[in-house]
Formats: sequence, C-alpha cells, structure tokens
Amino acid sequence: MSYDRRMFPLSKRSRRRRILAKRSIPADLWDGTIAEIASLSRLDGDELQRLQDIPLLFLHEKSLEPSAGFELDDAMQVRIAALACRPVLELGLDSYAGFVSVIVHPGEFVVRGREYEDEAGVVHIGDDVLSGEAWEQGPVVLGWEEVLASGRGDGFDVVAHEFAHKLDLLDGAVNGVPPLHRGMSFDTWIETFQTTYDALGASLERGEDTWLDPYAAEDPGEFFAVCSEMFFDVPVQLHEHHPAIYNQLAAFYRQDPMARPAKRQKVEVASAGRQPGAADPARTASNHPTEGENTR
Ligand SMILES: [Zn+2]
Repeated sequence: MSYDRRMFPLSKRSRRRRILAKRSIPADLWDGTIAEIASLSRLDGDELQRLQDIPLLFLHEKSLEPSAGFELDDAMQVRIAALACRPVLELGLDSYAGFVSVIVHPGEFVVRGREYEDEAGVVHIGDDVLSGEAWEQGPVVLGWEEVLASGRGDGFDVVAHEFAHKLDLLDGAVNGVPPLHRGMSFDTWIETFQTTYDALGASLERGEDTWLDPYAAEDPGEFFAVCSEMFFDVPVQLHEHHPAIYNQLAAFYRQDPMARPAKRQKVEVASAGRQPGAADPARTASNHPTEGENTR
C-alpha cells in the first residue's frame, strides 16, 4: 500500500514555506510601498527583510474584499498588508488567527442601526460613520482613504488601530489588555494603562487640550488601539508624552521603534509640532479625519 499525499494536508508551516519559496512581492512594488509610508520606511534593513515575507503570507491566508463597486489593485493590497503586518513583525502571523476577511470601502463608511447609550443611560439606535472597524469574530473593515492617510508620521494609522483590536480580542474581550507575554507583569500593565487613561479622561473633563486623540478616552479598548497607533506612527512623541505606556507596548509588540536609527527619526520630529489626528493644512478633511470625528 502506498501513502496518498492528499490524505495528509500540508501543515501550515510547510504550506507557508512553499508559498515563500514560490512567490514574492515584486521588489519595485515592495520598495515603492515602503518608500511611501513614513512609519515603515523607518524600519531597519533586517526588519524590512523579515517583514517582507509576512504580508505575502497575509495576502495568501486572508481575503481582502473590496466593497461593492470598489476595486483593489496589487499596490493597494500590498499597502494594507504591510501596515497590518508591521505590528506582528515579532509576534508572528498566527496572532491574527480567527478571521479571514478584510473588507475595504472607498472611504469612511456608515454602519446603520447601531445601539448606543447616552450619559443618562438611555439607549439610542443610530448610524455611525466609521473609518475602520474590527468585528469580534469577524472581519476587519477599513476605509481606503484612511488607509492612505495612515503611517505618515503624523499620528494616524487606522490599520494598526484595527489590528490592535484584533490582538486585544485574542483573549476574547476588547478590554485594552491583550494576552501578555511570559515575564510581563499584568499588574504593571493595568496600572500603567489605567493611570494614563484616567488622567486623559480628567484632562478632557477639564476642557484641556490633550496630546492623545480624545477618542482614546472612549473606553480601555480604544485607549489601547489609539496608543498602538501612536507607538508605530509617532514613537518618539509617545515616549516623550507617555514613557510608561511606550515601554509596555514595546514589551508587548517586542519592537522598539524609538531605537531605530536616529537619522530616520528626523521624519517624525519634523512633524512633531502638530497634534496627532489634528487636521494637516495640506490634507484637509477630505482625506484626513479632523480630531474628535474619527470613530474607528
Ligand atoms: Zn477602535
């Protein structure tokens, strides 16, 4: 009796090895994508080399689905995959288990019939305009205009934000506490995030301007996702304003964007004057959400 190979489906690992052996993202497409995204172009040579494989596998294992009438070309798909995979550069693609679909709309999209409770506890049903969304056991949804505005080094990255929600969800709850690695202290994580989250809420109540997008005060899950955006897009500023948060995220993502070659930091410092999320005079509201508007 001979063994029939079809009876033994390829293991995930050998399937991935086979994809990497046979396929690759064309070099000019990859280089062009990286060159356009400030926060990715700060990665060093080794990180870029290792990152390159993950989006290729991501594009094989996930399904990027444009919404009705919209189309995604190769460059658009590689851009989304590169931004989505950077957070798991050291965590591995398996961190994005449990979902397959990434739905992409041309821009902000309306979610109808959403229930929300006002301050008096009254439940309302209304429409929400979103630039991104991560379903608990379902797709990640993105607006392409917001993807284009992501990773420019001015404090906005809707892709890192939504995929941070997916990492948070790995333990079943969007509560701002993803599964922490061995050696990380749960108490330190809680204390660090709770203290900063409470301070943000208090500042906003006093009507003060805050460095962090006020949207982060929505709930602990949004706080983690917004801080993750800042970690990858403006790490110098995050470290300046919230070093304890920076250190916890560096331990969780096992990345230290602050440590990247200083010369590349210039990109960020040059744009440091502007508050993250605040409108960039060069990019008005049409393709860059102004502060306080951007539910994601
Ligand atoms: Zn969010």
